[in-house]
Amino acid sequence: MINLSAILYLVAAVLFVLALKGLSSPTSARRGNTFGMIGMVIAVVTTLMIMDKPVWALLGGAIAAGALIGTWKAKTVEMTGMPELVAAMHSLVGLSAVLIAVAAIFHTGQEHTPVQKVELFIGAFIGAITFTASVIAYGKLSGKFGSKAVSFGGQHLLNLVLALSMVGFGLAYFVTDSHAAFLAMLAVALVLGVTLIIPIGGADMPVVVSMLNSYSGWAAAGIGFTLNNPVLIIAGACVGSSGAILSYIMCKAMNRSIVSVLLGGFGAEAAAGGSAASGPKNYKSGSADDAAFLMGNADSVIIVPGYGLAVSRAQHALQEFADKLTEKGVNVRYAIHPVAGRMPGHMNVLLAEAEVPYEQVLEMEEINSDFSNTDVVLVIGANDVVNPAAQKDKGSPIYGMPILEAYKARTTIVVKRSMNAGYAGLDNELFYMDKTMMVFGDAKKVVEELVKAVEHA
Ligand code: NDP
Repeated sequence: MINLSAILYLVAAVLFVLALKGLSSPTSARRGNTFGMIGMVIAVVTTLMIMDKPVWALLGGAIAAGALIGTWKAKTVEMTGMPELVAAMHSLVGLSAVLIAVAAIFHTGQEHTPVQKVELFIGAFIGAITFTASVIAYGKLSGKFGSKAVSFGGQHLLNLVLALSMVGFGLAYFVTDSHAAFLAMLAVALVLGVTLIIPIGGADMPVVVSMLNSYSGWAAAGIGFTLNNPVLIIAGACVGSSGAILSYIMCKAMNRSIVSVLLGGFGAEAAAGGSAASGPKNYKSGSADDAAFLMGNADSVIIVPGYGLAVSRAQHALQEFADKLTEKGVNVRYAIHPVAGRMPGHMNVLLAEAEVPYEQVLEMEEINSDFSNTDVVLVIGANDVVNPAAQKDKGSPIYGMPILEAYKARTTIVVKRSMNAGYAGLDNELFYMDKTMMVFGDAKKVVEELVKAVEHA
């Protein structure tokens, strides 16, 4: 039985690695997900097989409840609600790590070696920080707590004192085996999760969610050592390292250092940095008919989708419009910014759902040099990711963030409902340029009008 379980765990671990490999590209992502699901079923069944005195009623009830809630959530969640769902899930991973650690500590008669004690306390405090930080991230992303950064004097000092006392209590537990010290360490870690996350503002939340993803993986790996469960160690390490790599990629995309994200305050500066209401400026607006005429007569069009496209679920209509333009001989491509929308890969997922051919979808580095040779750029429900202030205004909070250089095209058409700011709360010079035409309205409604207009042109 031991050997069979070792082999099954190995198979599950290989499937997890293949899942990550598959998820690295939109074309293989479905396959990757399938590998991950099969790996997880094998891991769970194997764990049930080797369990000592399982309480089947409890296990069955917990698995059934989890499966029901998971299926219901997966079926009902809107794409725009994914980031907060992911944050909520990370909080559960953190909480499980804490509960397993507490169970292991309070399990009567169970002796822990010094190495196990270190694994236990590291897994437990990372889990506790992940739990409360993810709850706050969930609240911020879902708009329940407000997405602004909360900062006050002495914040970093407070965090340092909390971190040191958390480690102090952990060491006290290590030396004395005191349950009280372990619980005190957990209590401080729970508070630290909150104080670490509140100074982080809205625009930095994607990086934070991916870092919490990484933390939840390391917490699971730590607990895997305690439980002596190799598949939990491997799965935790896969989640931990892929989350860390994703955080790094996102920091690069936003031109932020991980340290500055963690020290926080960016969202607050951004909100104070300016908004659409900072003074009357002139802009040009036109109708969907005008926009369809311009694009129907262009040689090349680049579409820049953003958060507003996702909210109005305009991707299917947009693809229909792009097909009509292609039939007319226009070269149509999509430009994707790494943090467009509200979660990593948000736009890729939406466009894949609308069956946009992958070869038409280009990443920022692939397409940025083409904007200056492009007739028309259609910016649809996007704002921050095309804000030239990131390149031109040294005082802007987003200065240095790489952007899609839509402002370099011959003509820019921007579809949004108003002149309001985007996620970072900043005004956007692109909207006031001579070559820009604003088309106001809900993205889906405007695109449906574009489809009709281009059909009749
Ligand atoms: P933005 O949030 O900057 O802009 C979206 C624009 O869409 C708004 O200005 C809004 O203008 C418009 N809009 C909203 N609803 C509609 C609608 N129904 N129809 C038409 N337009 C609509 O989005 P971007 O995608 O440009 O940038 C993403 C931002 O989100 C970045 O700041 C990024 O850092 C942040 N972020 C990214 C995450 C990620 O992982 N991708 C996660 C969390 C945050 P109006 O109200 O006038 O319609």
